[in-house]
Amino acid sequence: MKHAFPCGDLALDFVGTLRVRRSPVPQDVLDSPRALDAWFVESGVADAAPGSDAADLAAAVALRESIYDLVRGRITGTPPGPASVDLLNRVAARPPAVPRLGPAGRVLTATAEQALSTVARHAVEILGGPAADLLKECGRPACTQVYVDSSRGFRREWCAMAACGNKMKALAHRARLRGNPPLRPSRLVAG
Ligand SMILES: [Zn+2]
Repeated sequence: MKHAFPCGDLALDFVGTLRVRRSPVPQDVLDSPRALDAWFVESGVADAAPGSDAADLAAAVALRESIYDLVRGRITGTPPGPASVDLLNRVAARPPAVPRLGPAGRVLTATAEQALSTVARHAVEILGGPAADLLKECGRPACTQVYVDSSRGFRREWCAMAACGNKMKALAHRARLRGNPPLRPSRLVAG
């Protein structure tokens, strides 16, 4: 697998394809049409690579950044750009990936445009439903993955325990051994 799906949510893992996004040098794992095709297949949006081109990649990045803008707006309580809502709704209005029954079972086919519509529709469900109040950014500063915190008491600190929680616990442990104060999570918060 080329890609990672730490928070298990289609739209939010898509947002996470720009890693360490608030650092001066974010890492974009959607760095080619092939990488986008691989994301669609690995995420389960489509069974086979849609054959994305450079224009599809540009559309994917524009959708991703619009979703992030809307998620950040929810987390920080600041209004997102109106263009972000328009773009999300425009992509979601197109036909999504189509499941059909084949001789060997369910087949999910999509063009890049259809695959992006599936992602956009998922983002509409997250941003337009009760999960929107539970959006958080991972507390590991080097991560910045956003996720839905549906834990009791809204106490989850990390996008994924295996990916980030354990790393931060190890860091905190080493800091304690050195006699340093505990690390404070640095994350997007309401302000
Ligand atoms: Zn994380």
